[in-house]
Amino acid sequence: MNNYFYKNLYEILGIEPTDDLVKIKSAYRSLARKYHPDLNGGNELYVSKFKEISEACEILMDKDKKALYDAFKGYVKTETKSKYTQPDPQKAYRAYKSAQNTKNTKKENAEDTNNPKGSFSQVLNDILEGLFKEQGINKTEYAKTSQKTQPKRGKKTPKDGEDITTELEISYLEALNGTHRTVNILHSEICPNCEGKMFINGSQCPLCKGLGETSIHKKINVKIPKNVKQNSKIRIASEGNRGRNGGKNGDVYLLIKIKNDEKYTYDGLNVSFETTIYPHEAVFGTEHRVETPQGAIKMKIPANCSQGQKFRLSAHGLKDDKGNIGDAIVTVRLDLPDELTEEELELYKKLSQLCKRREQKESAK
Ligand SMILES: [Zn+2]
Repeated sequence: MNNYFYKNLYEILGIEPTDDLVKIKSAYRSLARKYHPDLNGGNELYVSKFKEISEACEILMDKDKKALYDAFKGYVKTETKSKYTQPDPQKAYRAYKSAQNTKNTKKENAEDTNNPKGSFSQVLNDILEGLFKEQGINKTEYAKTSQKTQPKRGKKTPKDGEDITTELEISYLEALNGTHRTVNILHSEICPNCEGKMFINGSQCPLCKGLGETSIHKKINVKIPKNVKQNSKIRIASEGNRGRNGGKNGDVYLLIKIKNDEKYTYDGLNVSFETTIYPHEAVFGTEHRVETPQGAIKMKIPANCSQGQKFRLSAHGLKDDKGNIGDAIVTVRLDLPDELTEEELELYKKLSQLCKRREQKESAK
């Protein structure tokens, strides 16, 4: 007995045992489009898959072979349900016999009886030929392959793997001085379980589901060069998706995103930021603690300081790897405490009255 009895031919074609010839043909058509190596860039990994599909189809399109297969596998049609039940070994033989009898006494549908014996592979070839015409593939070239039921292995069209682009966020300081990162790339590789063979001991590889390749996370150490610019791309050669049939692997591109800093604005090595003082501090001057990239320091704010005034703190900006250092530029903002006490409010009232009086005096001049 042929080894196809150990396979689920319906599953291979993705159809039900109840499906008719039209369904079988249509399943074959769409699977051939997917797996015929000549129709998908000569992917030789598909050769055995395509062979399996063709064999399953040839058996199921042959009434005798299908009846024998159904009987052996126990796909027996019951009267009440139009579904097929699971094997009942005792019934299997009887079912086969009855299938044989039916065939002998009853005229089968025209399509089957009109087909001379052994013409099933011809039907498959006709379907394939149709697909080749659709794809605009030369018929004579196809003829070479169709002579053998198995697709040719010789001619493979190399297909380069796809590039992968992924964003990488770095700080301004890292962009300035360069850095190292470990990036996690999800790319396709040959399936490590079946080594690209798609099948293991005749059944579909459970890891790649018969594709022969699988998506794998890979950690790659990358050096980010110094002075890298916003939205620039860093290429990591050959770490993209796998090329096929000798095609090149794709590349990985890291799209650089320089983090927006809430606190600092950068200009080369210079860093700008704001600090907030109270009105009385603006009047009398103060010492204020500020955080610079070189650490916290106390900066002197002179008396009569106004809103928006800028102060330069020399050598408190960023440092590059050559030892150059920029300045910190501090802009003063005036603000009130979140809540004023009654006493403070009283003083502000008095201040307000004094201000009004001064304005009146000035306008009277
Ligand atoms: Zn696999």
